Amino acid sequence: MLLTITYREKPATDLGYLLHKHPARPQVFEQSFGKVYVFYPKAEPEECTAAMLLDVNPIDLARGKVGSGFGGLFDYINDRPYAASSFLSTALARVYGSAMSGSCKDRPELAAKPLPLEVHLTNLPCRSETDKLKQIFEPLGYAVSYVEHGLDERFPNWGMSDYVDLTLKGTVRLADLLNHLYVLIPVFDRQKHYWMGEDEVDKLLTHGGDWLKTHPEMRWITRRYFNRKKSYVGSALRQLVSEEEAETGITEEPEADTLVADTGDLDVPPASEQTAEAVAEPIPEKKARRKPLNDQRLDAVVQAVRDCGAASVADLGCGEGQLLRRLLPEMQITRLVGMDVSTVALARAESRLKLERKAELIRNKLTLFQGALTYRDQRLESFDCACVVEVVEHMDPDRLPAFARTVFLHAAPKTVILTTPNRSYNKNYEALTEGKLRHPDHRFEWSKEEFTAWAEAICRDYGYNVRLSWIGETDADGQQPTQMGVFTKCG
Ligand code: SAH
Repeated sequence: MLLTITYREKPATDLGYLLHKHPARPQVFEQSFGKVYVFYPKAEPEECTAAMLLDVNPIDLARGKVGSGFGGLFDYINDRPYAASSFLSTALARVYGSAMSGSCKDRPELAAKPLPLEVHLTNLPCRSETDKLKQIFEPLGYAVSYVEHGLDERFPNWGMSDYVDLTLKGTVRLADLLNHLYVLIPVFDRQKHYWMGEDEVDKLLTHGGDWLKTHPEMRWITRRYFNRKKSYVGSALRQLVSEEEAETGITEEPEADTLVADTGDLDVPPASEQTAEAVAEPIPEKKARRKPLNDQRLDAVVQAVRDCGAASVADLGCGEGQLLRRLLPEMQITRLVGMDVSTVALARAESRLKLERKAELIRNKLTLFQGALTYRDQRLESFDCACVVEVVEHMDPDRLPAFARTVFLHAAPKTVILTTPNRSYNKNYEALTEGKLRHPDHRFEWSKEEFTAWAEAICRDYGYNVRLSWIGETDADGQQPTQMGVFTKCG
């Protein structure tokens, strides 16, 4: 990834003093994640450009030394070496630290003064949020332009990529510019390569305190900077605005694109998962970082779909489409349906899946429709596999027989993959008082024994075999938060 800063006022080579980097001397800085090169593609009195190139070492990433933790193929195939990310912020702080603090003993008057500067940043992960670029950078005094790229120019059908090349032009103090980038790049990228520690709040206040307070998107920036980690968002907002106003910021609804459907999990991790986090810098050695339960569960479901070899899959009670999003790229699947009783959830699924940006081949696989799982529905009757992820517990117990008939008797796919919370794990959730369920809309939650008994009855009544498994951390009593049954039709 490449970041350039251009200055065009004579003598433009003063930029070298401001950045504390000599224009004639290319330099390399070794970092735990790779190398940072600083050099000047152009250094003339009329125009001077300083470039920072990050060469992120994919081997270190894959070995989990830094930035890893997602597991599986993601550790090997990812955008980290190319995308503008928190690695760039770390590099900025390390390499341009003095400039960032506004100090410059050779040209103090220049460091203190707004200068006409131009920044070019490659591959900023922006998803479909290009409108946000202007909302975020314009209030800071920049003219914003960007170039979007197709995923592959040879295959226009594959749609647009999630990355933009961004250009910012403005008259700002160099230190301010660097601080803006430091805070705002990870706000767009969102995958921090290090564990966020308490000092992350201080970092935001150090780099953003002055300008963030008056930024119209202060709350959005703060939430995204901490990836919605509520305690940090709260702590930062309390220091940016008055205590009272801060509370509104914390409890505010997250924007639609990141609204997470009810997944049966609590916002608050169980006490056992609230491990002390390492401080952000220096980058720690690999920590045994646990995947969020929701991801573990969806990964398990996707794996079960792969294992059963299904070409057509129905996601029943698909909610906002988290599973569909993971199933869409699976090449073995040629037909995919998402059904839910809630039109609001379906509309969200549609907008979050961003089908219009997907390749035709992928787009055409999917159909979303409304339906209720307690009524026979012929549209469900020709699928190899049905997934019912964290749905049954939303039904009144007396509707379960109707649900079972719809799915196991009428739709009767070869495989049914069903997950539901394990009530016996709830004691690990500190925020959950004795006997409470994990979500207000849950009508019941089964213990292991209850789920096993229900699953066995299904097999007996409808001619299925079931393989039960449990997902997530095992507590001291041998309980896990999620239970899964993979039902296979006999004969
Ligand atoms: N499977 C999704 C959503 C789980 S939330 C996920 O894992 O993210 C439960 C979903 O089930 C909600 O979207 C709700 O609208 C849907 N639902 C509840 N009862 C239903 C029913 N009888 N028929 C169809 N969908 C139902």
